[in-house]
Amino acid sequence: MVVDFATSTPTPSAAIDSSTTKPTTTTLMKGGLFADTTTTTATDNFELPPITPIASGTSIPKLLRAHAADSEDHEPFYIIDVGQVARKYDQWVAALPRVDPFYAVKCNGDKTILKLLAKLGTGFDCASKAEMDTVLKMGVPADRIIYAHPCKMASHVKFASQNNVRMMTFDNEHELHKMKELYPNARLVLRVLTDNSRSICNLGLKFGAALARVPHMLQLAKDLELDVVGVSYHVGSGCFDAQAFADAVAVAKTVFNIGAELGFKFNLLDLGGGFPGSDNVNVKFDDIASVLRVALDKHFPAAENKDLHIIAEPGRYFVSASHTLAVSVVAKRTIVLPTTNGETNDANSAANQAAMASASACPAAAAAAAMAAAQGRAADGAPTFMYYVNDGVYGSFNCILFDHAVVAPRVLVSGNLGVVAMDSDSESDSEERAESGFACSIWGPTCDSMDCITKTGRLPELAIGDWLYFEDMGAYTVAASSTFNGFPKPKLMYVNSESHRNLL
Ligand SMILES: *Cc1c(COP(=O)(O)O)cnc(C)c1O
Repeated sequence: MVVDFATSTPTPSAAIDSSTTKPTTTTLMKGGLFADTTTTTATDNFELPPITPIASGTSIPKLLRAHAADSEDHEPFYIIDVGQVARKYDQWVAALPRVDPFYAVKCNGDKTILKLLAKLGTGFDCASKAEMDTVLKMGVPADRIIYAHPCKMASHVKFASQNNVRMMTFDNEHELHKMKELYPNARLVLRVLTDNSRSICNLGLKFGAALARVPHMLQLAKDLELDVVGVSYHVGSGCFDAQAFADAVAVAKTVFNIGAELGFKFNLLDLGGGFPGSDNVNVKFDDIASVLRVALDKHFPAAENKDLHIIAEPGRYFVSASHTLAVSVVAKRTIVLPTTNGETNDANSAANQAAMASASACPAAAAAAAMAAAQGRAADGAPTFMYYVNDGVYGSFNCILFDHAVVAPRVLVSGNLGVVAMDSDSESDSEERAESGFACSIWGPTCDSMDCITKTGRLPELAIGDWLYFEDMGAYTVAASSTFNGFPKPKLMYVNSESHRNLL
Protein backbone atom coordinates (compact mmCIF):
# COMPACT_ATOMS: atom_id res chain seq x y z
CA MET A 1 0.00 0.00 0.00
CA VAL A 2 2.88 2.32 0.66
CA VAL A 3 4.58 3.69 -2.40
CA ASP A 4 7.92 5.31 -1.95
CA PHE A 5 8.71 7.59 -4.85
CA ALA A 6 11.65 9.06 -2.99
CA THR A 7 13.85 6.25 -4.22
CA SER A 8 12.98 6.80 -7.87
CA THR A 9 14.40 10.31 -8.19
CA PRO A 10 16.57 10.48 -11.30
CA THR A 11 20.21 11.40 -10.89
CA PRO A 12 20.86 14.86 -12.32
CA SER A 13 23.22 14.73 -15.28
CA ALA A 14 24.46 18.21 -14.37
CA ALA A 15 26.92 16.56 -12.02
CA ILE A 16 29.41 16.51 -14.89
CA ASP A 17 31.12 19.87 -15.22
CA SER A 18 31.73 20.37 -18.91
CA SER A 19 33.98 23.40 -18.33
CA THR A 20 36.66 21.26 -16.71
CA THR A 21 36.08 18.08 -18.67
CA LYS A 22 37.60 18.66 -22.09
CA PRO A 23 36.78 15.72 -24.32
CA THR A 24 38.56 15.24 -27.63
CA THR A 25 36.39 16.10 -30.61
CA THR A 26 36.18 12.47 -31.68
CA THR A 27 34.31 11.56 -28.49
CA LEU A 28 31.75 14.32 -28.91
CA MET A 29 28.22 13.32 -29.70
CA LYS A 30 25.72 15.65 -31.28
CA GLY A 31 25.18 18.49 -28.85
CA GLY A 32 28.53 18.03 -27.12
CA LEU A 33 29.14 15.68 -24.23
CA PHE A 34 25.52 14.76 -23.90
CA ALA A 35 23.21 12.94 -26.24
CA ASP A 36 20.54 15.12 -27.79
CA THR A 37 17.50 14.58 -25.61
CA THR A 38 15.38 17.38 -27.00
CA THR A 39 12.70 15.16 -28.49
CA THR A 40 10.46 13.07 -26.33
CA THR A 41 9.44 9.47 -26.61
CA ALA A 42 5.74 8.82 -26.44
CA THR A 43 5.89 6.04 -23.88
CA ASP A 44 4.56 6.39 -20.40
CA ASN A 45 5.80 3.61 -18.18
CA PHE A 46 4.24 5.09 -15.08
CA GLU A 47 2.23 2.53 -13.18
CA LEU A 48 -0.54 3.69 -10.90
CA PRO A 49 0.14 3.00 -7.23
CA PRO A 50 -2.44 1.04 -5.24
CA ILE A 51 -5.37 3.30 -4.37
CA THR A 52 -7.53 2.15 -1.47
CA PRO A 53 -11.22 2.88 -1.88
CA ILE A 54 -12.78 4.45 1.20
CA ALA A 55 -16.35 5.47 1.92
CA SER A 56 -17.01 9.15 1.36
CA GLY A 57 -16.98 10.84 4.73
CA THR A 58 -14.36 8.44 6.10
CA SER A 59 -12.25 10.32 8.58
CA ILE A 60 -8.73 10.84 7.26
CA PRO A 61 -7.34 11.27 10.81
CA LYS A 62 -8.72 7.82 11.67
CA LEU A 63 -6.88 6.33 8.69
CA LEU A 64 -3.72 8.19 9.63
CA ARG A 65 -4.01 6.90 13.16
CA ALA A 66 -4.45 3.32 12.02
CA HIS A 67 -1.34 3.56 9.89
CA ALA A 68 0.65 5.35 12.57
CA ALA A 69 -0.24 2.61 15.05
CA ASP A 70 1.12 0.02 12.58
CA SER A 71 4.28 1.96 11.91
CA GLU A 72 7.46 0.45 13.27
CA ASP A 73 9.91 3.01 11.93
CA HIS A 74 7.78 6.06 12.79
CA GLU A 75 8.63 7.61 9.41
CA PRO A 76 6.43 10.49 8.21
CA PHE A 77 3.76 9.71 5.62
CA TYR A 78 1.02 11.27 3.55
CA ILE A 79 -2.48 10.10 2.90
CA ILE A 80 -3.52 11.43 -0.50
CA ASP A 81 -7.22 11.42 -1.30
CA VAL A 82 -7.73 11.45 -5.05
CA GLY A 83 -11.49 11.72 -4.51
CA GLN A 84 -10.89 15.13 -2.99
CA VAL A 85 -9.24 16.27 -6.25
CA ALA A 86 -12.22 15.01 -8.24
CA ARG A 87 -14.63 16.94 -6.02
CA LYS A 88 -12.59 20.11 -6.59
CA TYR A 89 -12.97 19.57 -10.30
CA ASP A 90 -16.76 19.20 -9.93
CA GLN A 91 -16.89 22.34 -7.82
CA TRP A 92 -14.92 24.26 -10.44
CA VAL A 93 -17.18 23.19 -13.30
CA ALA A 94 -20.26 24.16 -11.30
CA ALA A 95 -18.90 27.53 -10.16
CA LEU A 96 -17.06 28.65 -13.30
CA PRO A 97 -18.71 26.90 -16.23
CA ARG A 98 -17.18 29.32 -18.75
CA VAL A 99 -13.62 28.72 -17.55
CA ASP A 100 -11.49 25.70 -18.56
CA PRO A 101 -8.98 24.87 -15.79
CA PHE A 102 -5.37 24.20 -16.88
CA TYR A 103 -3.74 22.69 -13.78
CA ALA A 104 -0.41 24.34 -12.84
CA VAL A 105 1.90 21.32 -12.69
CA LYS A 106 4.58 23.02 -10.58
CA CYS A 107 2.24 23.05 -7.58
CA ASN A 108 2.40 19.28 -7.21
CA GLY A 109 3.62 17.03 -10.01
CA ASP A 110 2.25 13.83 -8.43
CA LYS A 111 1.70 11.58 -11.42
CA THR A 112 -1.39 9.91 -10.01
CA ILE A 113 -3.02 13.30 -9.61
CA LEU A 114 -1.87 14.42 -13.07
CA LYS A 115 -3.38 11.26 -14.53
CA LEU A 116 -6.64 11.85 -12.71
CA LEU A 117 -6.85 15.47 -13.87
CA ALA A 118 -6.04 14.42 -17.43
CA LYS A 119 -8.84 11.89 -17.27
CA LEU A 120 -11.27 14.42 -15.84
CA GLY A 121 -10.39 16.62 -18.80
CA THR A 122 -8.40 19.55 -17.45
CA GLY A 123 -5.63 21.17 -19.43
CA PHE A 124 -2.17 21.75 -17.99
CA ASP A 125 0.01 24.77 -17.30
CA CYS A 126 3.62 23.65 -17.77
CA ALA A 127 6.65 25.85 -17.24
CA SER A 128 9.48 23.62 -18.42
CA LYS A 129 10.42 20.88 -20.82
CA ALA A 130 10.19 18.22 -18.12
CA GLU A 131 6.69 19.30 -17.10
CA MET A 132 5.54 19.29 -20.73
CA ASP A 133 7.17 15.91 -21.30
CA THR A 134 5.46 14.35 -18.27
CA VAL A 135 2.04 15.58 -19.32
CA LEU A 136 2.51 14.68 -23.01
CA LYS A 137 3.59 11.16 -22.04
CA MET A 138 0.27 10.76 -20.25
CA GLY A 139 -1.39 11.20 -23.60
CA VAL A 140 -2.59 14.76 -23.04
CA PRO A 141 -2.96 16.44 -26.46
CA ALA A 142 -0.55 19.33 -27.07
CA ASP A 143 -3.39 21.81 -27.46
CA ARG A 144 -4.42 21.16 -23.85
CA ILE A 145 -1.09 22.47 -22.63
CA ILE A 146 -0.08 26.07 -22.14
CA TYR A 147 3.64 26.69 -21.74
CA ALA A 148 2.99 29.43 -19.19
CA HIS A 149 6.47 30.78 -18.55
CA PRO A 150 7.14 34.28 -19.86
CA CYS A 151 10.93 33.81 -19.78
CA LYS A 152 11.68 30.52 -21.47
CA MET A 153 14.85 28.52 -22.06
CA ALA A 154 15.68 28.09 -25.74
CA SER A 155 15.98 24.31 -25.49
CA HIS A 156 12.58 24.14 -23.83
CA VAL A 157 11.03 26.25 -26.60
CA LYS A 158 12.53 23.86 -29.16
CA PHE A 159 11.00 20.96 -27.27
CA ALA A 160 7.61 22.70 -27.31
CA SER A 161 7.97 23.30 -31.03
CA GLN A 162 8.89 19.67 -31.78
CA ASN A 163 5.88 18.52 -29.81
CA ASN A 164 3.40 21.08 -31.12
CA VAL A 165 2.82 22.76 -27.78
CA ARG A 166 1.92 26.06 -29.43
CA MET A 167 0.32 28.11 -26.67
CA MET A 168 2.90 30.03 -24.63
CA THR A 169 3.16 33.25 -22.70
CA PHE A 170 5.55 36.20 -23.07
CA ASP A 171 5.84 39.54 -21.29
CA ASN A 172 8.75 41.39 -22.89
CA GLU A 173 10.32 42.36 -26.21
CA HIS A 174 13.39 40.10 -25.92
CA GLU A 175 11.14 37.11 -25.64
CA LEU A 176 9.37 38.12 -28.86
CA HIS A 177 12.67 38.12 -30.75
CA LYS A 178 13.45 34.72 -29.21
CA MET A 179 10.11 33.35 -30.36
CA LYS A 180 10.60 34.76 -33.84
CA GLU A 181 13.85 32.86 -34.08
CA LEU A 182 12.86 29.61 -32.37
CA TYR A 183 9.13 29.17 -32.84
CA PRO A 184 7.54 31.68 -35.19
CA ASN A 185 4.30 29.66 -35.37
CA ALA A 186 3.70 29.75 -31.62
CA ARG A 187 0.35 31.03 -30.41
CA LEU A 188 1.56 33.75 -28.08
CA VAL A 189 -0.28 34.92 -25.00
CA LEU A 190 0.67 38.29 -23.54
CA ARG A 191 1.06 38.12 -19.78
CA VAL A 192 0.20 41.48 -18.32
CA LEU A 193 0.82 42.90 -14.92
CA THR A 194 -2.24 43.19 -12.72
CA ASP A 195 -2.48 44.46 -9.18
CA ASN A 196 -0.66 41.89 -7.00
CA SER A 197 -0.69 44.06 -3.89
CA ARG A 198 -3.61 42.19 -2.40
CA SER A 199 -1.80 38.83 -2.45
CA ILE A 200 0.72 37.26 -0.09
CA CYS A 201 2.88 35.96 -2.96
CA ASN A 202 3.45 38.86 -5.33
CA LEU A 203 4.30 37.33 -8.71
CA GLY A 204 4.23 40.81 -10.27
CA LEU A 205 7.72 41.35 -8.88
CA LYS A 206 9.06 38.96 -11.49
CA PHE A 207 6.61 38.73 -14.38
CA GLY A 208 4.03 40.66 -16.31
CA ALA A 209 4.12 43.47 -18.87
CA ALA A 210 3.04 46.86 -17.54
CA LEU A 211 0.00 48.20 -19.33
CA ALA A 212 2.04 51.16 -20.61
CA ARG A 213 4.39 48.77 -22.48
CA VAL A 214 1.58 46.79 -24.09
CA PRO A 215 1.03 48.93 -27.25
CA HIS A 216 4.76 48.88 -28.06
CA MET A 217 5.05 45.17 -27.42
CA LEU A 218 2.04 44.28 -29.54
CA GLN A 219 3.30 46.55 -32.34
CA LEU A 220 6.63 44.71 -32.25
CA ALA A 221 4.83 41.34 -32.39
CA LYS A 222 2.94 42.63 -35.41
CA ASP A 223 6.14 43.83 -37.11
CA LEU A 224 7.70 40.40 -36.48
CA GLU A 225 4.55 38.76 -37.88
CA LEU A 226 4.00 36.78 -34.71
CA ASP A 227 0.65 35.34 -33.76
CA VAL A 228 -0.56 36.86 -30.47
CA VAL A 229 -3.80 35.10 -29.54
CA GLY A 230 -4.69 36.44 -26.15
CA VAL A 231 -3.97 37.74 -22.69
CA SER A 232 -2.97 36.14 -19.39
CA TYR A 233 -2.17 37.38 -15.91
CA HIS A 234 -1.73 36.09 -12.38
CA VAL A 235 -3.20 38.08 -9.49
CA GLY A 236 -0.68 36.48 -7.11
CA SER A 237 -1.15 33.63 -4.69
CA GLY A 238 -2.70 33.93 -1.26
CA CYS A 239 -5.00 36.72 -2.45
CA PHE A 240 -7.03 38.30 0.33
CA ASP A 241 -9.43 40.37 -1.76
CA ALA A 242 -11.78 38.69 -4.24
CA GLN A 243 -12.17 42.03 -6.03
CA ALA A 244 -8.56 41.68 -7.30
CA PHE A 245 -9.78 38.87 -9.57
CA ALA A 246 -12.48 41.10 -11.05
CA ASP A 247 -10.14 44.08 -11.47
CA ALA A 248 -7.75 41.88 -13.43
CA VAL A 249 -10.51 40.92 -15.88
CA ALA A 250 -11.03 44.64 -16.53
CA VAL A 251 -7.28 45.06 -17.23
CA ALA A 252 -7.44 42.12 -19.64
CA LYS A 253 -10.35 43.77 -21.42
CA THR A 254 -8.27 46.93 -21.89
CA VAL A 255 -5.50 44.82 -23.44
CA PHE A 256 -8.01 43.10 -25.73
CA ASN A 257 -9.03 46.57 -26.93
CA ILE A 258 -5.42 47.65 -27.55
CA GLY A 259 -4.90 44.43 -29.50
CA ALA A 260 -8.00 45.01 -31.59
CA GLU A 261 -6.79 48.52 -32.50
CA LEU A 262 -3.59 46.95 -33.83
CA GLY A 263 -5.53 44.38 -35.83
CA PHE A 264 -5.16 41.36 -33.53
CA LYS A 265 -8.15 39.10 -33.02
CA PHE A 266 -7.61 37.72 -29.55
CA ASN A 267 -9.55 34.57 -28.70
CA LEU A 268 -7.85 33.45 -25.49
CA LEU A 269 -8.30 34.86 -22.00
CA ASP A 270 -6.21 33.20 -19.29
CA LEU A 271 -7.19 34.09 -15.71
CA GLY A 272 -4.04 32.59 -14.16
CA GLY A 273 -3.94 30.92 -10.74
CA GLY A 274 -4.23 31.91 -7.11
CA PHE A 275 -7.55 30.19 -6.37
CA PRO A 276 -7.50 28.88 -2.78
CA GLY A 277 -7.79 25.15 -2.27
CA SER A 278 -9.02 25.19 1.27
CA ASP A 279 -11.69 27.14 3.06
CA ASN A 280 -9.30 28.01 5.90
CA VAL A 281 -8.42 31.26 4.11
CA ASN A 282 -9.64 34.84 4.14
CA VAL A 283 -11.27 34.70 0.74
CA LYS A 284 -12.91 31.43 -0.25
CA PHE A 285 -13.04 29.97 -3.74
CA ASP A 286 -16.81 30.45 -3.94
CA ASP A 287 -16.45 34.18 -3.17
CA ILE A 288 -13.86 34.55 -5.92
CA ALA A 289 -15.94 32.53 -8.37
CA SER A 290 -19.02 34.67 -7.89
CA VAL A 291 -17.05 37.91 -8.31
CA LEU A 292 -15.39 36.45 -11.41
CA ARG A 293 -18.64 35.32 -13.03
CA VAL A 294 -19.97 38.86 -12.78
CA ALA A 295 -16.74 40.41 -14.14
CA LEU A 296 -16.58 37.98 -17.07
CA ASP A 297 -20.21 38.59 -17.98
CA LYS A 298 -19.62 42.34 -17.79
CA HIS A 299 -16.37 42.59 -19.79
CA PHE A 300 -16.65 39.49 -21.97
CA PRO A 301 -20.39 38.70 -22.30
CA ALA A 302 -20.86 35.17 -23.67
CA ALA A 303 -23.25 36.26 -26.43
CA GLU A 304 -20.68 38.63 -27.96
CA ASN A 305 -17.67 36.38 -27.39
CA LYS A 306 -18.63 33.08 -28.95
CA ASP A 307 -15.08 32.33 -30.14
CA LEU A 308 -13.43 33.28 -26.87
CA HIS A 309 -11.74 30.44 -24.97
CA ILE A 310 -11.44 31.31 -21.28
CA ILE A 311 -8.94 29.29 -19.28
CA ALA A 312 -7.33 29.56 -15.85
CA GLU A 313 -4.22 28.03 -14.29
CA PRO A 314 -5.27 26.84 -10.84
CA GLY A 315 -2.56 24.99 -8.90
CA ARG A 316 -3.24 24.96 -5.17
CA TYR A 317 -6.99 24.90 -5.78
CA PHE A 318 -6.91 21.27 -6.94
CA VAL A 319 -4.37 19.74 -4.60
CA SER A 320 -4.17 21.61 -1.28
CA ALA A 321 -6.82 19.62 0.55
CA SER A 322 -5.93 16.26 -1.00
CA HIS A 323 -2.82 15.71 1.13
CA THR A 324 -2.69 15.12 4.89
CA LEU A 325 0.73 14.66 6.44
CA ALA A 326 1.56 12.69 9.59
CA VAL A 327 4.88 13.21 11.38
CA SER A 328 6.17 11.78 14.61
CA VAL A 329 7.95 13.41 17.50
CA VAL A 330 11.54 12.15 17.46
CA ALA A 331 12.95 14.30 20.24
CA LYS A 332 11.84 16.81 22.81
CA ARG A 333 13.32 19.50 24.99
CA THR A 334 11.71 20.85 28.13
CA ILE A 335 12.41 24.46 28.90
CA VAL A 336 12.08 25.34 32.55
CA LEU A 337 11.83 29.02 33.20
CA PRO A 338 13.51 31.31 35.67
CA THR A 339 11.77 31.24 39.04
CA THR A 340 10.17 34.44 40.33
CA ASN A 341 13.29 35.42 42.30
CA GLY A 342 15.17 35.48 39.04
CA GLU A 343 17.16 32.31 39.50
CA THR A 344 17.44 30.02 36.58
CA ASN A 345 16.78 26.45 37.57
CA ASP A 346 17.70 24.94 34.24
CA ALA A 347 20.73 25.51 32.11
CA ASN A 348 18.45 25.27 29.10
CA SER A 349 16.17 28.08 30.24
CA ALA A 350 14.26 29.76 27.48
CA ALA A 351 15.82 33.13 28.19
CA ASN A 352 19.23 31.58 27.99
CA GLN A 353 18.33 29.92 24.74
CA ALA A 354 17.03 33.15 23.32
CA ALA A 355 20.31 34.85 24.13
CA MET A 356 22.34 32.02 22.68
CA ALA A 357 20.23 31.88 19.55
CA SER A 358 20.51 35.58 18.86
CA ALA A 359 24.26 35.41 19.48
CA SER A 360 24.43 32.73 16.80
CA ALA A 361 22.53 35.04 14.45
CA CYS A 362 19.65 32.66 14.00
CA PRO A 363 16.47 34.70 13.95
CA ALA A 364 14.10 31.72 13.88
CA ALA A 365 15.56 30.10 16.96
CA ALA A 366 15.89 33.42 18.76
CA ALA A 367 12.28 34.32 18.09
CA ALA A 368 11.09 30.90 19.10
CA ALA A 369 13.01 30.80 22.33
CA ALA A 370 12.09 34.37 23.21
CA MET A 371 8.45 33.67 22.52
CA ALA A 372 8.58 30.50 24.55
CA ALA A 373 10.12 32.48 27.37
CA ALA A 374 7.42 35.13 27.19
CA GLN A 375 4.61 32.60 27.03
CA GLY A 376 6.07 30.47 29.75
CA ARG A 377 6.42 33.41 32.07
CA ALA A 378 2.83 34.37 31.43
CA ALA A 379 1.82 30.86 32.41
CA ASP A 380 3.58 31.44 35.71
CA GLY A 381 6.25 28.81 35.82
CA ALA A 382 4.66 26.33 33.43
CA PRO A 383 7.26 24.63 31.27
CA THR A 384 7.42 25.13 27.54
CA PHE A 385 8.46 22.47 25.07
CA MET A 386 10.46 22.19 21.90
CA TYR A 387 9.42 19.21 19.78
CA TYR A 388 11.56 17.81 16.97
CA VAL A 389 9.58 15.97 14.29
CA ASN A 390 10.70 14.03 11.22
CA ASP A 391 9.70 16.38 8.40
CA GLY A 392 10.66 20.04 8.19
CA VAL A 393 11.31 23.05 5.98
CA TYR A 394 13.85 21.16 3.86
CA GLY A 395 11.08 18.65 3.19
CA SER A 396 7.32 19.15 3.00
CA PHE A 397 7.36 22.34 5.03
CA ASN A 398 9.33 24.23 2.39
CA CYS A 399 5.88 25.76 1.83
CA ILE A 400 6.56 27.89 4.92
CA LEU A 401 9.55 29.53 3.23
CA PHE A 402 8.47 29.58 -0.42
CA ASP A 403 4.70 29.82 -0.20
CA HIS A 404 4.42 31.83 3.03
CA ALA A 405 2.27 29.03 4.38
CA VAL A 406 1.17 28.94 7.99
CA VAL A 407 0.58 25.38 9.08
CA ALA A 408 -1.58 24.07 11.89
CA PRO A 409 -0.36 21.04 13.86
CA ARG A 410 -2.99 18.69 15.24
CA VAL A 411 -2.43 15.85 17.65
CA LEU A 412 -2.86 12.46 16.00
CA VAL A 413 -1.60 9.98 18.56
CA SER A 414 -0.38 10.83 22.02
CA GLY A 415 0.70 8.65 24.88
CA ASN A 416 3.95 7.10 23.81
CA LEU A 417 2.79 3.55 23.13
CA GLY A 418 0.36 4.39 20.36
CA VAL A 419 -2.54 5.18 22.63
CA VAL A 420 -5.05 7.36 20.81
CA ALA A 421 -5.42 10.70 22.52
CA MET A 422 -8.24 12.13 20.48
CA ASP A 423 -11.21 9.84 20.10
CA SER A 424 -13.28 12.50 18.45
CA ASP A 425 -12.31 13.99 15.13
CA SER A 426 -14.05 17.27 15.78
CA GLU A 427 -11.88 20.30 15.44
CA SER A 428 -13.37 22.07 18.43
CA ASP A 429 -12.27 19.14 20.54
CA SER A 430 -8.67 19.43 19.44
CA GLU A 431 -8.82 23.19 19.77
CA GLU A 432 -10.06 22.88 23.32
CA ARG A 433 -7.20 20.58 24.09
CA ALA A 434 -4.78 22.99 22.47
CA GLU A 435 -6.13 25.82 24.62
CA SER A 436 -5.43 23.87 27.73
CA GLY A 437 -1.97 22.74 26.62
CA PHE A 438 1.52 24.12 26.96
CA ALA A 439 3.40 26.67 24.92
CA CYS A 440 5.59 24.89 22.41
CA SER A 441 7.55 25.22 19.21
CA ILE A 442 7.89 22.52 16.56
CA TRP A 443 11.14 21.90 14.69
CA GLY A 444 12.16 19.88 11.66
CA PRO A 445 14.70 17.05 11.83
CA THR A 446 17.77 18.66 10.23
CA CYS A 447 20.72 20.25 11.99
CA ASP A 448 19.78 23.70 10.68
CA SER A 449 18.16 26.05 13.17
CA MET A 450 16.16 27.67 10.34
CA ASP A 451 14.32 24.35 10.20
CA CYS A 452 11.38 25.48 12.32
CA ILE A 453 7.75 24.57 11.56
CA THR A 454 5.88 26.60 14.16
CA LYS A 455 7.55 29.09 16.45
CA THR A 456 4.70 29.42 18.87
CA GLY A 457 1.56 27.55 19.72
CA ARG A 458 -0.09 25.47 22.37
CA LEU A 459 -0.48 21.72 22.44
CA PRO A 460 -1.05 19.14 25.13
CA GLU A 461 2.29 17.82 26.31
CA LEU A 462 3.63 15.34 23.77
CA ALA A 463 5.99 12.44 24.30
CA ILE A 464 8.68 11.10 22.00
CA GLY A 465 6.92 8.72 19.63
CA ASP A 466 3.68 10.71 19.55
CA TRP A 467 2.28 11.77 16.20
CA LEU A 468 1.06 15.07 14.79
CA TYR A 469 -0.80 15.66 11.56
CA PHE A 470 -1.23 18.61 9.21
CA GLU A 471 -4.14 19.10 6.83
CA ASP A 472 -4.14 20.89 3.46
CA MET A 473 -0.56 19.88 2.66
CA GLY A 474 -0.89 19.20 -1.07
CA ALA A 475 0.30 22.49 -2.56
CA TYR A 476 3.97 23.48 -2.85
CA THR A 477 5.04 20.83 -0.35
CA VAL A 478 6.14 17.54 -1.94
CA ALA A 479 6.98 19.44 -5.14
CA ALA A 480 10.06 21.23 -3.80
CA SER A 481 11.04 19.02 -0.89
CA SER A 482 14.55 17.64 -0.55
CA THR A 483 16.29 14.93 1.43
CA PHE A 484 18.80 17.41 2.88
CA ASN A 485 20.80 16.00 5.77
CA GLY A 486 19.69 12.50 4.80
CA PHE A 487 16.10 12.69 6.01
CA PRO A 488 13.84 10.82 3.59
CA LYS A 489 10.71 12.25 2.09
CA PRO A 490 7.44 11.00 3.56
CA LYS A 491 5.87 7.91 2.05
CA LEU A 492 2.74 8.32 -0.02
CA MET A 493 -0.47 6.36 0.46
CA TYR A 494 -3.39 6.88 -1.85
CA VAL A 495 -7.05 6.58 -1.00
CA ASN A 496 -10.19 7.39 -2.96
CA SER A 497 -13.18 8.83 -1.14
CA GLU A 498 -15.13 8.88 -4.42
CA SER A 499 -14.82 5.15 -4.86
CA HIS A 500 -18.23 4.83 -6.51
CA ARG A 501 -16.76 6.69 -9.50
CA ASN A 502 -14.29 5.14 -11.88
CA LEU A 503 -11.69 7.86 -11.38
CA LEU A 504 -8.48 6.20 -12.53
C1 LIG B 1 2.42 29.18 -9.89
C2 LIG B 1 1.58 29.59 -11.04
C3 LIG B 1 0.23 29.22 -11.09
C4 LIG B 1 -0.48 28.50 -9.97
O1 LIG B 1 -0.66 29.32 -8.85
P1 LIG B 1 -1.60 28.83 -7.64
O2 LIG B 1 -1.50 29.89 -6.63
O3 LIG B 1 -1.07 27.52 -7.17
O4 LIG B 1 -2.97 28.67 -8.20
C5 LIG B 1 -0.47 29.55 -12.23
N1 LIG B 1 0.10 30.22 -13.24
C6 LIG B 1 1.40 30.58 -13.22
C7 LIG B 1 1.96 31.31 -14.38
C8 LIG B 1 2.17 30.30 -12.11
O5 LIG B 1 3.45 30.69 -12.07
